[in-house]
Amino acid sequence: MQLIDNYQRRFHYLRLSITELCNFQCQYCLPDGYHPNKDSALDGHNHKFLSLSEIENVVAVFADLGVHKVRLTGGEPTLRRDFIDILSLISSYPTIKVRAITTNGSRLLKNIANWQAAGLNAINISIDSLSPYFFKLITGQDKLFEVMRGVDRSLELGIEKVKVNTVLMKNRNDNLADYLAWIKDRPIDLRFIELMETGDDRQLFDHYHVSGSKMEAQLIEQGWQLQPKERLAGPAKVYTHDDYQGKIGLIMPYSKDFCKSCNRLRISSVGKLHYCLFGDAAVDLRALLAKPEQREQLKVQILASLAIKPEKHYLHDHNVGITQNLSYIGG
Ligand code: SAM
Ligand code: SF4
Repeated sequence: MQLIDNYQRRFHYLRLSITELCNFQCQYCLPDGYHPNKDSALDGHNHKFLSLSEIENVVAVFADLGVHKVRLTGGEPTLRRDFIDILSLISSYPTIKVRAITTNGSRLLKNIANWQAAGLNAINISIDSLSPYFFKLITGQDKLFEVMRGVDRSLELGIEKVKVNTVLMKNRNDNLADYLAWIKDRPIDLRFIELMETGDDRQLFDHYHVSGSKMEAQLIEQGWQLQPKERLAGPAKVYTHDDYQGKIGLIMPYSKDFCKSCNRLRISSVGKLHYCLFGDAAVDLRALLAKPEQREQLKVQILASLAIKPEKHYLHDHNVGITQNLSYIGG
């Protein structure tokens, strides 16, 4: 059985948010830090984040539906006390070949070896500037060098895919030179992500959004070459250069046809299926996550929900859907 929508897009990749909690204060996400009363999708009905057994039911059903990549995200996923148990659980499904996380890197250096032992084989680390001053300004945390050491440790340990996410912000981090020097001798897959508008950040968006196309032009001018897209690849445009071990990907949600290569579905930390980061609605699966006996019903519900996945987002019209900030469902 496969997950295919009405626009012939195939979904083999699940982004699973396991918490909204976070220990950073990124300006474009949780500028005042995480406040359960203000930022939370928790309510009387969903009063806790998904439990380990609910996560198991989600993963089992998506594995059955042909998903072979699961990314844990949040909030900051590594803050969960049972994080290693969640990784081990995902690793117990042999068809889930890619077991990934997106993290702010605050716990990376100390824990990456244990995460790898629990099955982690792909990691995205968010680093919004290579200047300690701007890193602290953007994230609220003075941890740039510790996070960078965590990246190096991940490479030393041979984690198969080490990616670094940088959200582009005008006059803060849209300077390519530092990044190029860093990835010259490191096999890092660097991803520049255009700042996306969310319900909370219209003003910040207007002030700091910068199109990735300016950076793309610089890359082409410096001899970087666009790689042909692999068959099931997501929306990033990936560039390589013979003189560099690292690669550079551009994620430009405001570019034409961005949604055509959408290959992922998202489950929030309270068990809602979001077909799009910026959709107007989400399907609440929580009631079907309680018992393994409900897995067939859960499958039917997921397949039925896919029929209403929209063709594209409407960010150009400033329609950000129900997403207040990305700590609800991960980026
Ligand atoms: N806390 C983890 C982290 O920061 O890597 C995982 C969750 S975070 C929501 C996932 C990704 O979304 C990060 O790379 C973050 O930079 C990105 N993100 C958050 N808000 C964004 C926005 N408004 N526009 C673009 N990317 C955003
Ligand atoms: Fe936390 Fe990640 Fe949001 Fe930054 S982007 S505040 S690290 S959830």
